[in-house]
Amino acid sequence: MSQDCIFCKIRDGEIPSAKVYEDEDVYAFLDISQVTKGHTLVIPKEHVKNVYETSSDVAEKLFSRVPKIANAIKATYEPVGLNVLNNNEEAAGQSVFHLHIHLIPRYGKNDGFG
Ligand code: 5GP
Ligand code: ZN
Repeated sequence: MSQDCIFCKIRDGEIPSAKVYEDEDVYAFLDISQVTKGHTLVIPKEHVKNVYETSSDVAEKLFSRVPKIANAIKATYEPVGLNVLNNNEEAAGQSVFHLHIHLIPRYGKNDGFG
């Protein structure tokens, strides 16, 4: 399954991406179709489908990096807010089945998202 996973290919550099942050456990990159400027995806390097199949250890590693990445986005793009989102299963909007957190910078009521 993970052989056909586009986020595993992005993690491995087989598909190019605009890197925002990387360490031994997570990789963060700009969404290919940003809903606002700086829309970033954060993935665990370990392939897990979604929150239902994620150990506490992987979840802790993934979420523990969110404040640092959120502050990097804040410094770069100077948004006035940030949404932290995660979709699980198709019915909830998941289209790539490798766990990911969306960090969506917000620029005010008319920024085009939500
Ligand atoms: P989901 O709908 O599963 O919560 O979010 C998947 C996200 O992955 C979408 O926002 C989509 O734009 C993004 N995405 C899909 N394919 C690629 C890709 O090849 N590169 C990048 N950077 N983002 C992608
Ligand atoms: Zn994967």
